Amino acid sequence: MKHNFGAGPCILPKEVFEQASQAVIDFNGTGLSILEISHRSKEFEEVVVETEQLVRELLNVPSGYSILFLQGGASQQFAMVPMNLLPADGKAAYLDTGVWATKAAKEAKRVGQVEIVASSSDQNYNYIPKLYTIPTDAAYFHYTSNNTIYGTEVFDRPATQVPVVVDMSSDILSRNINIADYDLIYAGAQKNMGPAGVTLVIIKDELFGKSGRTNPMIFDYEAHAKAGSMYNTPPVFSIYVSMLNLRWLKAKGGIDVIEQENIIKARTLYDEIDRNPFFRGTAAVEDRSRMNVTFVMENAELEAEFLALAKERNLIGIKGHRSVGGFRASIYNALTISSINALVDTMREFEERKK
Ligand code: PMP
Repeated sequence: MKHNFGAGPCILPKEVFEQASQAVIDFNGTGLSILEISHRSKEFEEVVVETEQLVRELLNVPSGYSILFLQGGASQQFAMVPMNLLPADGKAAYLDTGVWATKAAKEAKRVGQVEIVASSSDQNYNYIPKLYTIPTDAAYFHYTSNNTIYGTEVFDRPATQVPVVVDMSSDILSRNINIADYDLIYAGAQKNMGPAGVTLVIIKDELFGKSGRTNPMIFDYEAHAKAGSMYNTPPVFSIYVSMLNLRWLKAKGGIDVIEQENIIKARTLYDEIDRNPFFRGTAAVEDRSRMNVTFVMENAELEAEFLALAKERNLIGIKGHRSVGGFRASIYNALTISSINALVDTMREFEERKK
């Protein structure tokens, strides 16, 4: 058995893969593959409705918010957010907590005026800036709730009166959030929601048309909302597999249950990193992510050897991103505690060998 610690696309529950593969052959007894049915068919309309319903239910989405399933990844949202929310004479506020946050701000700068309220680039993004001021006249404030590369996470929504826009690509559906605290949430599906190819957007309807710009329709949130995510052909299979994965999450007991599991998984791994003299965590302790655990070896020369042992023990995808080095264990919803234990055991085995 492989333990997949990949950062995304990443592990999904085995039963989801099994159900998805069955639907590729025969979707719901229709005698047709999910890959060949019309996106306008009644069968697929039911899939979109159920997927939206599951998102609403699992995340407790209040009325007044639209749920969209778009393409183009989170990166397309970097552009769509300012196109839809940033007026020509306005400015947007961004918190810079890493590569993805920087890219989001950069894209917004192509559209209009951007103010970076704070950055943790001075320490290679190993912490979340806390003391900063969000201008009250900003059209919106944007931040990344989980920094997939650096292993830091923002657990509390920063206090501000301006609309709050969050990139939750790598921690959506991993913990409870109060949707009413946010104005726009977006997330590439390929971590905790489903396979790559679909992007979830949860947007307060009040934001439609806020920028006053005339955008191409394909980049207009309202156009997608009005069409029920069927403005054009949606990513049928990605939405379908997301639905299966959301069903799995619901059957498990929903966000409360997965959040507790995620807390225990993260704590188990961080405890070993802190205990084992060969390893050291890279993120500030109070900002440690529950989804992406970044760590290095005290002696960097041993890293290749540990990586080789990890491979022998079927631990996949733990090599760190090049901008941090060392290791990154992505421990998304579908990764079980037994995979965490396999990694911890391997770290202990390495310690025994070396001491
Ligand atoms: N934001 C975050 C937090 C991410 O982790 C990623 C990708 N890993 C992106 C944005 C970019 O997503 P995409 O590749 O879907 O455009």
